Amino acid sequence: MPRIGRTGCGETHVPACPALLMNIVIGSGPAGIACAYALLEKKQDVLVIDAGFQLEQRQRELLARVKDGQDAKAVAELIGIQNDPKLTGKGVHTKLNYGSDFPYRGALENLNLETSGTGLEPSLAVGGFSNVWGAAALPYRQDDIQDWPITTKDLAGHYEKVIQFTGLSAKKDDLADLFPLHTETPNHLEPSSQALRLLQGLAPLQADLKRAGIRYGSSRLMIGPSRNNRQPCVYCGQCIYGCPYGCIYNSGDDLADLLRKGTPGLHYRSDLIVTTIKEHGDTVTVDGFDRRSREPISLKAERGFLAAGVMPTAKIMLKSLGVYDQPVELKDSQYFLFPLLSTHGSREALTETAYTLSQVFMEIQDASLSPHTIHLQVYTYNDIITKTLDQRFRFLPLLRQVLVHQLEHRVLIVQGYLHSDHSGKISLSLKRDPATSKERFVAEGIPALGAKVIIGKILNKLGRHFAKLGLYPVAPALEFCLPGRGFHSGGSFPMRAKPGPLESDIYGRIGGTSRIHVVDASIFPSIPATTITLSAMANAHRIGSGNY
Ligand SMILES: Cc1cc2nc3c(=O)[nH]c(=O)nc-3n(C[C@H](O)[C@H](O)[C@H](O)COP(=O)(O)OP(=O)(O)OC[C@H]3O[C@@H](n4cnc5c(N)ncnc54)[C@H](O)[C@@H]3O)c2cc1C
Ligand code: SF4
Repeated sequence: MPRIGRTGCGETHVPACPALLMNIVIGSGPAGIACAYALLEKKQDVLVIDAGFQLEQRQRELLARVKDGQDAKAVAELIGIQNDPKLTGKGVHTKLNYGSDFPYRGALENLNLETSGTGLEPSLAVGGFSNVWGAAALPYRQDDIQDWPITTKDLAGHYEKVIQFTGLSAKKDDLADLFPLHTETPNHLEPSSQALRLLQGLAPLQADLKRAGIRYGSSRLMIGPSRNNRQPCVYCGQCIYGCPYGCIYNSGDDLADLLRKGTPGLHYRSDLIVTTIKEHGDTVTVDGFDRRSREPISLKAERGFLAAGVMPTAKIMLKSLGVYDQPVELKDSQYFLFPLLSTHGSREALTETAYTLSQVFMEIQDASLSPHTIHLQVYTYNDIITKTLDQRFRFLPLLRQVLVHQLEHRVLIVQGYLHSDHSGKISLSLKRDPATSKERFVAEGIPALGAKVIIGKILNKLGRHFAKLGLYPVAPALEFCLPGRGFHSGGSFPMRAKPGPLESDIYGRIGGTSRIHVVDASIFPSIPATTITLSAMANAHRIGSGNY
């Protein structure tokens, strides 16, 4: 049986499957695992399958040692590996996990994927992109999903269920009116000194900012203890490279823990590349191949749930439905980055022990910019800031050191997201060469036309309001990213009350099927700005727990 999860739990007990399975879930990313939880809560058997790329053996062994008892040598070796410049030298644009790019591997040879003009990629890893994600988790607001056939009321109970097993670090602050916490027992995360100063500086301006449509609060992150007993953060500052203590929610780890505990009804098979999922009468057939031996594999179940991530899900559905050369469009939440420069620096930020994921969330609701929420995540000091500044000033050898020294502790980084109504798109199509029958899966980015204007206005607005704090957005350093680069994309088979061709019903069923459910963000009718994964998990949990 395959080894699974980052924690190297090679001894995981994987129970043998019954002859006809009740449910197959394709994908062990956040959506697949949330769906599996819902099915298990209904006391139904479920087989989770995935494509199986995983962390290298050495890092897995080290993580297992840390998990077994805080092995300081193992932590030191892991930190050494993940800070090795030979690995991190790939640049800040590829977020690695413990020095490994395994979450991004295998798309070319297993999916025949060709991309242009998009930053979106698929993940064929155990745990999918939860191996590298930023753990930011804010629910959706009803105003931002008015075009959905379900409401936030339909999702509320599922947000709660999901947060029980993921854990959530959050504060009941001003954001809670707009975005319920969905937990009575959030974890506590100590903010960094720069974040604390920012929050304290903003406090006297809160009423003015609120009138101007700017709300702010502590970030909400899936970090720390959950019902499944992850440990609290120890502020080692390694979050961006992979948490050596396993404190950041990772659905692959979650699956490994559930299997290790011998969860009744849960089965797992790895290293399978699914190519089609079809329904015949009361049976769903999942076909594909073993990615190592390339041998064909066919599995049958009473019901199938597809959570392969938006790119592979589109490929599987298009092939299953026999739809060639007819693109479907993925919507995207436009991603952009800019620095905020503070006049009040503090070198303490460089040496303190702090976590390094997003520290502060800002939500802008201003009808003159957008009818939808604009989401901003503020990051305080981490060593990528120093590395990036050093890189930027490489053409000024005499001034480089002085500039980096003066700026590194004065810069905050803001990641911003827009609603999909203002964002680019990604066209996905399955193409078949008539002569050879060879198939290619093609993804092409379609940039947003008006997004830059909105982003310019956002920076102006922040500049006007934050000048009192000595904080200035640095517009020339704005990075406007390709569609899909923020990995908040979906909507290729949107849910509709009355679905048309290539649309789904509210249980993710496309083309009149009754037993095949797409449960990842592929079925979102639009993509709000306020982080995608928590809602993808809640929606997958909703569908998994449904009475169809
Ligand atoms: C660097 C980075 C940072 C991010 N930060 C955030 C954040 O802070 N907040 C947020 O909300 N979102 C964030 N995201 C997005 C988030 O990671 C995704 O929304 C989330 O992982 C999607 O979950 P999923 O289960 O739908 O798919 P995935 O995570 O992509 O998982 C797909 C699963 O399907 C399996 N699979 C794929 N194809 C096949 C196939 N053909 N056959 C069998 N199995 C298959 C894979 O093995 C994997 O298990 C980030 C993403 C990245 C890359
Ligand atoms: S600071 Fe980040 S990497 Fe370190 S323990 Fe906390 S969550 Fe994990």
